[in-house]
Amino acid sequence: MKTVCELHQCAGCMACVEICPKEAIMIKDTLSSYNAVIDENKCVNCNACHKVCQQNHTPEQKEPVKWYQGWASDIKIRGNCSSGGVATAVSLAFVKSGAPVYSCCFENGEFRFKKAVTEDEVKQFTGSKYVKSNPIGCYKEIRDDLKKDNRVLFIGLPCQVAALKNYVGDKLGINLYTADLICHGTPSPKLLDVFLKQYNKNLKSSGSMIFRIKAKMQIQVDCKSIVTKGVSDRYTIAFLNGLTYTENCYDCRYADKKRVSDITLGDSWGSELSLEDKKDGISLVLCQTEKGLEILENADVELRDVNLEIAVSNNQQLDHPSRMPECRSAFFHSIKAGKNFNREVKRYFPKPCFKQDVKELLIRMRIKKA
Ligand SMILES: Cc1cc2nc3c(=O)[nH]c(=O)nc-3n(C[C@H](O)[C@H](O)[C@H](O)COP(=O)(O)OP(=O)(O)OC[C@H]3O[C@@H](n4cnc5c(N)ncnc54)[C@H](O)[C@@H]3O)c2cc1C
Ligand code: SF4
Ligand code: SF4
Ligand code: SF4
Repeated sequence: MKTVCELHQCAGCMACVEICPKEAIMIKDTLSSYNAVIDENKCVNCNACHKVCQQNHTPEQKEPVKWYQGWASDIKIRGNCSSGGVATAVSLAFVKSGAPVYSCCFENGEFRFKKAVTEDEVKQFTGSKYVKSNPIGCYKEIRDDLKKDNRVLFIGLPCQVAALKNYVGDKLGINLYTADLICHGTPSPKLLDVFLKQYNKNLKSSGSMIFRIKAKMQIQVDCKSIVTKGVSDRYTIAFLNGLTYTENCYDCRYADKKRVSDITLGDSWGSELSLEDKKDGISLVLCQTEKGLEILENADVELRDVNLEIAVSNNQQLDHPSRMPECRSAFFHSIKAGKNFNREVKRYFPKPCFKQDVKELLIRMRIKKA
């Protein structure tokens, strides 16, 4: 099998698929890893795929020059978003100025990237999707926008930002503004489907998917909790414990204080701000470049100082990639053999599952609030 990058190290960014002039590349998703496989009968050895792959050529990463914690000034936006709503506030400022924003939304059963030019379109991006998203189609569209001298904002995972930078190149990149999310890893959406199947649900037939409401991590399908409200389901437990990411994520080169984007957004875990502010959501905001400062100056956000050392110590992805649990390969072996997802998560992570089971019991007995 001839692959674009090292075996099992593909991040699924799709840049090689989009750049290949012969449509010779197919992504093979094995649940536990992705590979971009080249059809040697179609390939003309132009090398474009190898050049664009951020696994082979990683763009420059820069130390933050400013660091803040903050939130969208509009209380409604802050309330609807995953943490402080800075991603949405920044996106709204772009579309209001006439510049398009590209980011990820859930549509027709897929986590795809789309272009937004109106405020309503930006709102489709709201919320963290704890799964691998698919930027296919947007690289060329962004390059075309940039060729017309349009300013463009792209918000995505660090590996996707890196791929986009490689795709558009430095010259066109002058008008490209980027925001990446602090990322501890992403599972294949096929694995999410395996989980949903246990509840007679699937991505294709779902109208909406919510992964968290502020600090409450729980999957909701079509605005309904899949397990008891207030309890973390097994997909979320597996995700938070680093069990289910594709193999490349455990060697992620973007899990560092040095960042690939103009600004970086995450949760301000460990914040010393009030409990009330924490409940409303506080984003961590790192700014690496002049363009980053421009993004923040134009957005309707409130920013406060943050202690970077405390932020890093509460967010391991700013220091090192997620560690692969020893049981991961046994877990995937079982899942690929068709064993029950929830039971396997409980088998390998009994403690966090037991904790949620007790919580569920207490909620059902009305001893604890959801
Ligand atoms: C897979 C994943 C892992 C994360 N891990 C951490 C972590 O370890 N520590 C931490 O501090 N923060 C992490 N985050 C970031 C955090 O969950 C919030 O997304 C971030 O703080 C932005 O919040 P917000 O309120 O500003 O976002 P919102 O205003 O709600 O907007 C979210 C933005 O992120 C984009 N987005 C959401 N999911 C994806 C996705 N899967 N792929 C590409 N773009 C996406 C949306 O399209 C939108 O533009 C992670 C996010 C993801 C998606
Ligand atoms: S070398 Fe060129 S033709 Fe071959 S797979 Fe890569 S991009 Fe496609
Ligand atoms: S990381 Fe991206 S560019 Fe590299 S092989 Fe995978 S899909 Fe292709
Ligand atoms: S952990 Fe790294 S490689 Fe994996 S999705 Fe996140 S940024 Fe991409």
